[in-house]
Amino acid sequence: MFTVRRAGLCPSKKISLTWLLTGLVTLVVLLTSSILLIGSYESKKQSLIETTLQLNYSSAERMSKTMDSLFLSMRNSLKYNAGVLSDFDAMTPKQVDNHLELMRNSSNFFNSISLVDVDGVIRNVVPAKVGTAGKLLTSKAGQEALALQKPYLSSPYLTPNTKRLIVFMSQPVFSRNGTYLGILSGTLYLQEDNILSMIYGNNNVDEYGSYFYIVDSKGQRLYHPNKQFIGRDISTNKVVQKLMKGERGKERVINTIGIEVLAGYSSVPANGWGIAVVSPISIIHQELMGHLRIIIGYSFFPFLMLLMGFIFIAYKLARPFVHLANLVSRIGKENIVIPEVRSQWSREAELLTDAVLLAVTDIQKQTDQLTQEAATDALTGLMNRRSLKYQLDHWIDSGLPFSLIVLDVDRFKLVNDTYGHVTGDEVLKHVAGIIVSSLRPSDVCYRYGGEEFVILLAETRPAEAFNVAERVRLALEQSVAPIPTRLTVSQGVAHYPLHASEQEALLEMADQALYLAKKGGRNRTVIAEPND
Ligand code: GH3
Ligand code: MG
Ligand code: MG
Repeated sequence: MFTVRRAGLCPSKKISLTWLLTGLVTLVVLLTSSILLIGSYESKKQSLIETTLQLNYSSAERMSKTMDSLFLSMRNSLKYNAGVLSDFDAMTPKQVDNHLELMRNSSNFFNSISLVDVDGVIRNVVPAKVGTAGKLLTSKAGQEALALQKPYLSSPYLTPNTKRLIVFMSQPVFSRNGTYLGILSGTLYLQEDNILSMIYGNNNVDEYGSYFYIVDSKGQRLYHPNKQFIGRDISTNKVVQKLMKGERGKERVINTIGIEVLAGYSSVPANGWGIAVVSPISIIHQELMGHLRIIIGYSFFPFLMLLMGFIFIAYKLARPFVHLANLVSRIGKENIVIPEVRSQWSREAELLTDAVLLAVTDIQKQTDQLTQEAATDALTGLMNRRSLKYQLDHWIDSGLPFSLIVLDVDRFKLVNDTYGHVTGDEVLKHVAGIIVSSLRPSDVCYRYGGEEFVILLAETRPAEAFNVAERVRLALEQSVAPIPTRLTVSQGVAHYPLHASEQEALLEMADQALYLAKKGGRNRTVIAEPND
């Protein structure tokens, strides 16, 4: 079972069609725009990520090629000078120092250069302020290089004396007859200005936050914009692990401090080191925000115009239905003025408007007719007793003074009995016509019932009402009635509020006056006696 709820029982809880349509249109436009915006955001994000990865990869490749040739040049420099120093025992320490100084200043490859003999004694060191000349080689890496008798490249380590973070590369020195004499080593001070910072620059974090770092083959950091990070083991980093395997590529990864970055990386064949160029993903987000701002900036006003246009169309489409609904809801409650038929946008609205207006016009006509019928007397066309009561209520409520005449046809029963009922009816119509024609325009006549009539005379004193009544009576007496006998009437006059202040009492007073008129011999008018 279901219950049918009558429309209009709680109309305030319902959404109007205009709001529904405009709301729907606004929602659709907003959702569509959001989807387009999200689509554009995502595609721009992908393209920015791809571009950044590609750029970083290209930079890493270029830098690794530079590093490769730099490293080869450094190695060649050591090799050549190791050859030149093959008889360093025959040279004075000053001569060796001069040579090493020349070597250091001509290329700038190394921060310091030292010559170590086969016993591990540091024979010469430039610049002299390093202060290790004449001392024994103590570092583990140095002893390893000396024992190896081959070209060597150390991992970063802290020097025992000066506590500097360094890497060094060394070249064995052999005499002309092939006797191993020691090593010639060049050192890079990783946390100070060195050949790497000369080539790649010192402050290498660009305005977008991109930077690069260099790691050695064991995953220790050799170069980083933040010097404190140099020397750290970052072999757990996914990109570093790939570099340690000599790989190259580009990737979106989380770095060692938990920041998501876009990394391009490439390894250096000559020394097994690796270079990674990275950009934090946040720069993409900043770019995207800028991109979004531009899109919103450009599309805001067209979007607003579009939205307003759609709302206008929705409003226009809903309007005929809203009008019809309002019109139909007023049927039966008030007198409806049928609006002019306007051309509608949609076929259905046009058809519905025509049909509803037709139906409403018809209902209105029928209602008017019924109302008219309910208010008038069918025989005489005068207003009936109901209308009289209504009018009396109204005047008494508003305190309007008036006079009332009750008119009764004398001996009417006799007319019926003599000429028949049909003629009786004709006589009643005749009486009504004569009364109306004898009245002033402001006076109104009602058929009270049978052969009794009531005349209302607004703002009329009893004496004046008496005159009117007499005029009516004489007019009837002198009129040519549908019957051959003379037609006379008796009348009672009462005044509000002189004779009574209530409807029933007033009619009663007029009736009593009428009774007196009948009693006094009929064909006369009597004014009611004022109340004491
Ligand atoms: P009186 O002078 O005392 O008023 O005498 P009367 O005969 O007019 O009074 P009574 O009230 O006895 O008779 C009124 C008659 O009017 C009775 C009734 O048959 C008649 N009548 C009432 N309504 C109609 C009607 O609509 N048509 C016709 N033809 N006669 C009606
Ligand atoms: Mg009567
Ligand atoms: Mg009568």
